[in-house]
Amino acid sequence: MKLETLTIHEIVDLLKNKEISYSEVVDSVLKQIEGQNEKYGAYLYTDPDGVREQAKALDDKGVTPQNPLYGIPYGLKDNFCTDHMPMTCASKMLENFRPPYNATAYESIKNAGGILLGKTNMDEFAMGSSTETSYFKVTKNPWDLTKVPGGSSGGSAAAVAANMAYYSLGTDTGGSIRQPSSFCATVGLKPTYGLVSRYGVTAFASSFDQVGPITKDITDCALVLNAIAGHDAKDTTSLNLDKKDYTQCLTKDIKGLKVGICDSFMGDNLQPEIRAAIDAAIEVYRDLGAEIVPVCAQFLDHALAAYYIISSAEASTNMSRYDGVRYGYRAEDYNDLEEMYNKTRSEGFGLEVKRRIILGSYVLSSGYYDAYYNKATRVRTMIREDFNRMFDSCDVLLTPTTANTAFGLGERTDDPLAMYLTDVYTVPANIVGAPALSMPCGFDKNGLPIGLQLMGPVLCEETILKAAFAFESATDFHTQQPKID
Ligand code: GLN
Repeated sequence: MKLETLTIHEIVDLLKNKEISYSEVVDSVLKQIEGQNEKYGAYLYTDPDGVREQAKALDDKGVTPQNPLYGIPYGLKDNFCTDHMPMTCASKMLENFRPPYNATAYESIKNAGGILLGKTNMDEFAMGSSTETSYFKVTKNPWDLTKVPGGSSGGSAAAVAANMAYYSLGTDTGGSIRQPSSFCATVGLKPTYGLVSRYGVTAFASSFDQVGPITKDITDCALVLNAIAGHDAKDTTSLNLDKKDYTQCLTKDIKGLKVGICDSFMGDNLQPEIRAAIDAAIEVYRDLGAEIVPVCAQFLDHALAAYYIISSAEASTNMSRYDGVRYGYRAEDYNDLEEMYNKTRSEGFGLEVKRRIILGSYVLSSGYYDAYYNKATRVRTMIREDFNRMFDSCDVLLTPTTANTAFGLGERTDDPLAMYLTDVYTVPANIVGAPALSMPCGFDKNGLPIGLQLMGPVLCEETILKAAFAFESATDFHTQQPKID
């Protein structure tokens, strides 16, 4: 049996029945990492010895899994702080940084018994859509080595797709969990803003950032969400709500569920095979007894521009802490403080991060604040109202996750606008703070995965998971595996 191809819930059942050991479970993915990471570049750092020791300790104790993540190895995007591993955010700026504390999401999984394999590659400070802005290496798409895995959580998605982790965590500011999930045929959920603590996660654009799971199927997605969702006094934006069991909503009965279809997500630039896959998905929902409801939005055409203005403004302030004084990289030769700042930031940040800092500072500067930043925040409110109106007449919105399947390595690196356009269908959920999930719904003629996005109103994760589970149960896209030798 190829253990590494199984899901979390399948592995836990085998562990409970004592059909396999914890050591066998970690070995299954470590073997993949040892054999494949060189080729795919999913991880920046791994701790095989520590992982084997933890598994052996569990075997020696002879414990049965005490909850569904117990003893299951996973990967963490390299913008989460853990005090026993480096955290680089894939930047030269933090090349030698070791955090002195732990992110809450990591602590929650640790308390549930999860075993951390290592830190996954990403776009520098999570700015990008292809994992090509990493200072250290380029991650490749397990479905086609010449294609990008998406980004910025490309390492986390590639690790799960190539069976180098049973699941992983990513962060999603404008699509960075869903877009790579779409490109790699994994399930990726961006929860409601504030549902999962961001404490100990490096900030990019604080009013958008959200932590979420990347998994092989919907049940696993609900299991990981159970572990990481919840109030955290250390994060002031964390919502104070009772804990839920998200597996409770996983029923196949979605009769009468209103599935909204909005033209703004079906633009002319949509790859024809994606349109066909979405049309087929709509038919699956109709057959399952859902009601298909056309809905419309007025302001969605402005979502991408508003997102890049506001997120860059927030990024420019968040990046100001990397000044060479407190921690991280410091330039070697300088004559005074000013020059030290200048050289440190010029040498420590890559091109895309600099671009965001410059754009962000520009839109916040006194002469342009009203014309850009202020206007973008007003557009944000209008888009929120658009969504409220759409959700008055439907329970979930069904859209493609991206307009194209995975593009070639290097294809968009010289054209930032083409790169930004990749996020056109994912940024609206971040703008409104609503939950959104991507799951596989087909393949193009070259065998590259196509992603289906389901969005719901704020805190309606259960409606999304239920709709996703019904689709997954009626189809077999999630069982397809890339050819990995
Ligand atoms: N690709 C988007 C950007 O570059 C989103 C990134 C993210 O979600 N972290 O801003």
